[in-house]
Amino acid sequence: DRFDDIDLGEIIKNNIKLSQYERPTPIQKYAIPIIVKKRDIMACAQTGSGKTAAFLVPILSQIYANGPCSSASNGSSRPYKQEKQYPIALVLAPTRELASQIHDEARKFSYRSHVRACIVYGGADINAQMQDLLKGCHLLVATPGRLVDMIERGKIGMDRVQYLVLDEADRMLDMGFEPQIRRIVEKDTMPATGVRHTLMFSATFPREIQILARDFLHNYIFLAV
Ligand code: AMP
Repeated sequence: DRFDDIDLGEIIKNNIKLSQYERPTPIQKYAIPIIVKKRDIMACAQTGSGKTAAFLVPILSQIYANGPCSSASNGSSRPYKQEKQYPIALVLAPTRELASQIHDEARKFSYRSHVRACIVYGGADINAQMQDLLKGCHLLVATPGRLVDMIERGKIGMDRVQYLVLDEADRMLDMGFEPQIRRIVEKDTMPATGVRHTLMFSATFPREIQILARDFLHNYIFLAV
C-alpha cells in the first residue's frame, strides 16, 4: 500500500514525495497499475477520492519513461514557439474550477521534467491562453467548448494524443457537452479508439455514459471504489 511498491520512475516518485502523499488512496492503488499496463478504464469515483492523481501519475510516469523525444509539437524536446501545439495527453473536464485543480496537480507532478502542462477554458481571455500555449504544451487540460474553439483556430491539433482522459464524464454530459466531446474525439484528427489510451471517470454510470464508454474505450476495465 505504498507508492514505492508501484514501478513509476524517479521523477514521478520524487514529485509524489514533494506533494506529501504518503500512501495511495483506493482508486490510486487499483487504477495506477492498470493504467501503467496500458489498459483503458472506466472508473466510478467521486471528487475527493484522489482520482486526479490516479490518472496523472501513471500518464506522466509513462511520458517520462518514453523520454523527451516522444513528445512535443515537432518531435523535439523543445516545443517552444510553435504556432500549433500537439499535446500527447489531453484531459477534458466540465468546469473551469475542476480544470484548474487538475492543471495545478499536473504542474506539481511535472516539476523538474521536460513536460509542460497547459490549460484552456471558456469565459476567459482566449489570447492569453493562446500565448501560453506557444511556450509548449505536452499535457493539456481543457473544457470541451473552448478546446473546440482552439482546434478550429488551428492552435491545437489532436493528431498526437496518446492519452485521453474524460474526467467527471457524467457532469460533462449533464452540461450538454456531448456534441463538443464527440467533435473532439471522433470528428477531428484524434488517434482511434484502441490506438490512443483512454480513461473515463464518472461519479455515476447511467445509460448515456455506458454508450460513451462503448464508443470511446477499447476492451476496458471497470473500476468502482
Ligand atoms: P481529487 O479527488 O483528485 O480531487 O483529490 C482530492 C484531494 O486529495 C486533493 O486535494 C489531493 O491533493 C489530495 N490527494 C490525492 N491523493 C492523495 C494521497 N495519496 N495522499 C494524500 N492526499 C491526496
